[in-house]
Amino acid sequence: MRKEVIGLSIFPRGICQICGCTDTNACVTEAGPCFWVNEEHDLCSTCYSEMSADDVGNLDMNVMINVPLHTFVDFHHFNRFRVPIISITYNTSDFPHKYAGRLFDLDQPTPYIVIRNTLEELRQEIPPHFSVLERSVNDDPVIVEVWV
Ligand SMILES: [Zn+2]
Ligand SMILES: [Zn+2]
Repeated sequence: MRKEVIGLSIFPRGICQICGCTDTNACVTEAGPCFWVNEEHDLCSTCYSEMSADDVGNLDMNVMINVPLHTFVDFHHFNRFRVPIISITYNTSDFPHKYAGRLFDLDQPTPYIVIRNTLEELRQEIPPHFSVLERSVNDDPVIVEVWV
């Protein structure tokens, strides 16, 4: 039986350069089938999440493909990142009138995001070991708060 990567059928076929998975033969983890994390469709989300922080830092990702998660609470890959940070923005051009929590590795954005309609709902999806930072005057106005 063919395994389909849901939602990717409009894109051309790719092959993950690391594990060799394809659109029709995704690797399946506890989090479900993998996604492409880059526009070239040659790096899948499973391999991305298993890369070392240095390798992630060396990636040339011109166009970030968003990988929406249901929540960060059961995201098992925080230890892959040197300094995992969740930055919450509101009403950006990508997500108008929504709150978006994006995982950063210090100052490097990752594809992983959680989207909610309200700030309270989004805060529920942040793991308990994160704590909120004071807003800094230098923060971009779209940034609501930052969790470290
Ligand atoms: Zn892969
Ligand atoms: Zn894969």
